[in-house]
Amino acid sequence: MMTAKEIRDSFKSFFESKEHLIVPSAPMVVKDDPTLMFTNAGMNQFKDIILGNRAPKSRRVADSQKCLRVSGKHNDLEEVGHDTYHHTMFEMLGNWSFGDYFKKEAISWAWEYLVDVLKLDPKNLYATVFEGSPEEGLERDNEAAAIWEQFLPKDHILNGNKHDNFWEMGDTGPCGPCSEIHMDSRSDEEKAKVPGRELVNKDHPQVIEIWNLVFMQFNRKADHSLEPLPAKVIDTGMGFERLVRTLQGKQSNYDTDVFQPIIKQIGALTGKQYGQDEKVDIAMRVVADHIRTIAFSITDGQLPSNAKAGYVIRRILRRAVRYAYTFLGQKEAFLYKLLPVLIDNMGDAYPELNAQKTLIEKVIIEEEESFLRTLDTGIKLLDKVMADAKSAGTTVISGVNAFTLYDTYGFPLDLTELILRENGMTVNIDEFNAEMAKQKARARNAAAVENGDWVVLKEGETEFVGYDFTEYETSILRYREVKQKSGVIYQIVLDKTPFYAEMGGQVGDQGVIVSEFETIDIIDTKKENGLPIHITKKLPQHPEAPMMACVDTDKRHACEANHTATHLLDEALREVLGTHVEQKGSLVSPEGLRFDFSHFQKVTDEELRQVERLVNEKIRQDLPLQEHRDLPIEEAKKLGAIALFGEKYGDKVRVVQFGQSIEFCGGVHAASTGHIGLFKILSESSIAAGVRRIEAVTGQAVEEMIYGLQDTITALKNILPGSSIETAVKKAIDENAALKKQIEEFMKEKTAQLKDKLIEQARNINGVMVISALIPAPAAVVKDLVFGIRAEKPAGTLVIIGSEENGKPMLTVSVSDDLTSRFNAGQMVREAAKLIQGGGGGQPHYATAGGKNPEGLHAAVESLIKAIEN
Ligand code: ATP
Ligand code: MG
Repeated sequence: MMTAKEIRDSFKSFFESKEHLIVPSAPMVVKDDPTLMFTNAGMNQFKDIILGNRAPKSRRVADSQKCLRVSGKHNDLEEVGHDTYHHTMFEMLGNWSFGDYFKKEAISWAWEYLVDVLKLDPKNLYATVFEGSPEEGLERDNEAAAIWEQFLPKDHILNGNKHDNFWEMGDTGPCGPCSEIHMDSRSDEEKAKVPGRELVNKDHPQVIEIWNLVFMQFNRKADHSLEPLPAKVIDTGMGFERLVRTLQGKQSNYDTDVFQPIIKQIGALTGKQYGQDEKVDIAMRVVADHIRTIAFSITDGQLPSNAKAGYVIRRILRRAVRYAYTFLGQKEAFLYKLLPVLIDNMGDAYPELNAQKTLIEKVIIEEEESFLRTLDTGIKLLDKVMADAKSAGTTVISGVNAFTLYDTYGFPLDLTELILRENGMTVNIDEFNAEMAKQKARARNAAAVENGDWVVLKEGETEFVGYDFTEYETSILRYREVKQKSGVIYQIVLDKTPFYAEMGGQVGDQGVIVSEFETIDIIDTKKENGLPIHITKKLPQHPEAPMMACVDTDKRHACEANHTATHLLDEALREVLGTHVEQKGSLVSPEGLRFDFSHFQKVTDEELRQVERLVNEKIRQDLPLQEHRDLPIEEAKKLGAIALFGEKYGDKVRVVQFGQSIEFCGGVHAASTGHIGLFKILSESSIAAGVRRIEAVTGQAVEEMIYGLQDTITALKNILPGSSIETAVKKAIDENAALKKQIEEFMKEKTAQLKDKLIEQARNINGVMVISALIPAPAAVVKDLVFGIRAEKPAGTLVIIGSEENGKPMLTVSVSDDLTSRFNAGQMVREAAKLIQGGGGGQPHYATAGGKNPEGLHAAVESLIKAIEN
């Protein structure tokens, strides 16, 4: 039996033998594409090639790509665990032709690999082809069908509709028919009863799609019409885990050597057995699947958080916690305990798992614990909702409540329903669905963008000249209109550009493009699918005119200084804190810099100073920028350059060096460190378990900061008399303390006087000496007063005080010990507190209550006196 690793290798060597270049998997977390959070198919990393923005290194490429299908167009999350063949993270094996071979080779090689190399039995294989679409004027993909007929009997070739068999990149762009290969792995008896062809694309767990071959031959325009694609593309994707399961003769992906070690460990840790109870099995599959996703996202640089991609990861983690909590009896953090077996299993192929072990563990534990607390709160909330429903005489809880539990506390409907069922209750599903639909509509509207077609003036690729120039002669290659929620903007692609497009944490350049007719403001520069895009609010009147592209140099130079300072900061942190420091995020703008890094405790003030001193020393040394452009990646590594995990690098990289600081970096930098001027840290904080954030400023921003400090000090000096601020403040504090003491003594005296006066005014009601008053005194004074009276009149006395401090009313009742059988201070206060909109209590001899409504104090005291009279 082939192992998973052997299967992966065999795929690569097969396509290598067909002259494909084998490339590495791109990172799973997508950082520079606004339309995509995670890689969800092998083709993502080639989008720019397919769109013609970049020339391919080779026309034939193959790889194994880590994919994540948990958001957007491909979201399998709810299936995962419930079935045995959808995962959140999975590997997609794929081969590509960029304008090289087409359907004939793609189909024959797929067949050759599956049947000749892997020895799959052809009688279990089915292929689908596009049936055509009259309204689009497209006929059946007879070309593909004819090729399949060389290998498969006609009744194993099935027609598929537009939904399953016509692939589109998006609303616009490349598209075309596709052809899927399905595998029937049922027993012979079952096959005899129902032929496999009837189960293809019917969600049968043993008749599943394993490989999809996409034939991109059209381009979809904004008006929805199709035009032929000049360079046709083959894009195939095969689910690795599904292939392994087929070859290892298993009925479920989770029974293969990819997942078994994790499943076994879950069993060992929870004492549950896989394969005995469907609910437990689902939970074990969910946990086994999700732990991979979570660990890999963290190494890829995407930590769980409360927004965007980070939130998606957080929700996956919470889903795993919930299943473990409900079905595996795990009431405490547990997922992190699976890391060792995951690393054992996958650490060889993915060394970053081992390298970042501590960080992954810390992040997971903290997330688990904080969610378990939320879960607890949610369960209490649900208890209350159920109690309210019961007292309202119904057994159906509102769907709005169920949605709040889902949205805020991460309770999916099935968990809520489960708890309700245990209590003989149900939920209004229609209401829940309506809330869900509302939320989806809100999300859709917020994200809606409409791209117009490109208006192409000249073919060509943009050349970036911004490392050497901030002004350059250029012309427009193409432009288009983009309608967003916030208004209409235009995207312009230039022939040559000095504008840096936002990337690697550095914000895009701003500036102007100028022709003899007009000046256009560029408000931002970004990259979309590898294409540098200049964003403007105004379209040029004469787009074909020669132009000058001019970057706003003040902003650019400030950016450069901040970027260079970031490299020096990184180096200094490693020196002061240790080499475990690894960049986890970075933002470089003209205003300042932000640097996130792994470190497991607070950075002390002393360490921060040391870091600042080191950076400023490097600034004074005025180290020149040593730039290595187009360095082969192997040589860059030999130089000892620091690379980032989860970043996509080509064969040739740019390396930026200032003295000992050497980093892979595409950003723009100061010509020498002296240009930074001065470096100052503004803050250090924690942003997640094991991740710290430093915010800092340089150059002129430090100057401004110093002026700000100076102004504050001058202002203080003007207020405080004396030569030194320190002495003056100390004196003020001492005086304050002395005054406070005086006031306390004064209060004591007053309290004693008040006590005597109140005793004098005591009334006899029903044989009880009642002392009552309304006074504007703090709680501590009232307490002293009441206890003073108790000491002096230990028997036959009842004291009632209404007091007020800073607008907050308070009631105090004291009953002398001999009267507690007749009067209970606690009960009296509780009853009367309603009049001040408050509550409280205490003991039978002494009780207090606070409230919100001081207006009610008088009535409250009166009501207490009444109570004694009766
Ligand atoms: P399905 O209909 O089974 O969800 P799909 O049509 O979404 O598959 P494609 O987008 O064509 O699949 O992806 C190519 C291949 O990737 C599929 O043939 C399948 O083998 C695999 N695949 C797709 N989604 C998953 C997933 N969530 N987990 C594991 N493998 C998957
Ligand atoms: Mg799918």
